[in-house]
Amino acid sequence: KSSAAKEYVNQVYDEVIKRNPNESEFLQAVKEVFDSLIPVFEKNPKYMENGILERIAEPERMVTFRVPWVDDQGKVQVNRGFRVQFNSSIGPYKGGLRFHASVNASIIKFLGFEQILKNSLTGQPIGGGKGGADFDPKGKSDQEVMRFTQSFMTELCKYIGPDVDVPAGDIGVGAREIGYMFGQYKRIRGGYEAGVLTGKGLGYGGSLARTEATGYGTVYFVEEMLKDKDLSFADSTVVVSGSGNVSIYAIDKASQLGAKVVACSDSNGYIYDKNGINLETVKKLKEVERKRISEYVTVHPQAEYYEGCSGIWSIPCDIALPCATQNEIDKRSAQILVDNGVKAIGEGANMPSTLEAIDLFLENDILFGPAKAANAGGVAVSALEMAQNSMKLAWTFEEVDKRLHGIMKNIYQNSVKAAKEYGYPGNLVVGANIAGFVKVADAMIAQGII
Ligand code: GLU
Repeated sequence: KSSAAKEYVNQVYDEVIKRNPNESEFLQAVKEVFDSLIPVFEKNPKYMENGILERIAEPERMVTFRVPWVDDQGKVQVNRGFRVQFNSSIGPYKGGLRFHASVNASIIKFLGFEQILKNSLTGQPIGGGKGGADFDPKGKSDQEVMRFTQSFMTELCKYIGPDVDVPAGDIGVGAREIGYMFGQYKRIRGGYEAGVLTGKGLGYGGSLARTEATGYGTVYFVEEMLKDKDLSFADSTVVVSGSGNVSIYAIDKASQLGAKVVACSDSNGYIYDKNGINLETVKKLKEVERKRISEYVTVHPQAEYYEGCSGIWSIPCDIALPCATQNEIDKRSAQILVDNGVKAIGEGANMPSTLEAIDLFLENDILFGPAKAANAGGVAVSALEMAQNSMKLAWTFEEVDKRLHGIMKNIYQNSVKAAKEYGYPGNLVVGANIAGFVKVADAMIAQGII
């Protein structure tokens, strides 16, 4: 049916397309959110005033900058750096930095846009931002990574600060990169501003449980979805894509809860281990030796390695946790998962399912935990890290993990409640988008047209 709200949303979306031509990832993220907000506008027309929707899809600020550095052969290399400061209505901009060859304006904007609503959902006082560079860390030496990262921060430091914008990690940015960036920021500023970055090492202001937070949080979220249907992780078969920080701790927590995780992957291919993945091997390969996942089979010959990424979704499983990257589950892979009897999907990565894949899961009544709810545990613990930094104290692992668990349960409950209230019971895509949006929109209304 057509309504004033629907027409309004379509008209604003057309303007967004015009202003951001060819930015397919950004437009995909905006489309999903806009469509799910129609019931909000229908029920409460005040949100159609004040240009909320027009403003929320346009970043407050976006910087693009040159990142020159010298490689080990003495050759000058140039990459492009980005930081999008999308929305600061409920707190300082907050969001990770991604170093990956695919990074461009569209990718950074989709991530930054998602971050606004995700951060709102956590209940913590953080706005939305994101950044990164088209730097490919694969095969780079430690010295090259340091030189690149220092050059990146030399420019980025002009735009960030503990009460302004607080970056963290994402794909390609982990403890090592955060350490180098923190050192460079401190050197330029000449002062110890611990709260300027999160995901720091434990010895210099990092929070316990931050490393585990995204993966653990995703599993905590899925656990809540399963509980409502009298299901659980115990004795289930789980497939997790990726083998980075999110995947590793999703595998860890799912296994702790009694699941058998039989597969994981990297950008070259995936491994299938019918005995259950040996997490220590994955951790050693990916975190210490920085090798490819294919090496797993040399340590565990009973496992199988397959080239290519999408094949992982053909492995029959009860629960699928896409924790690698955007659009890794298309309609075809979604159909195979459904045909194989998958019961629940929990998105650990950002926007891992295409719009068509999401529709397919929802049509088939598969429990679906959308990224901005299911992977919000990482940024939630980043906010806890900021809180500890400003109080100059450190909580125990148990304390942070308990708070994380509570936050994930709240996100689930709030999403369920919003979905029901607006007429889409059980649809957590709609629920999460609405619950995240309303808080940001109310703050934008209160603060006037800015
Ligand atoms: N990159 C993570 C995300 O997508 C974490 C961001 C943060 O901790 O600021 O939410």
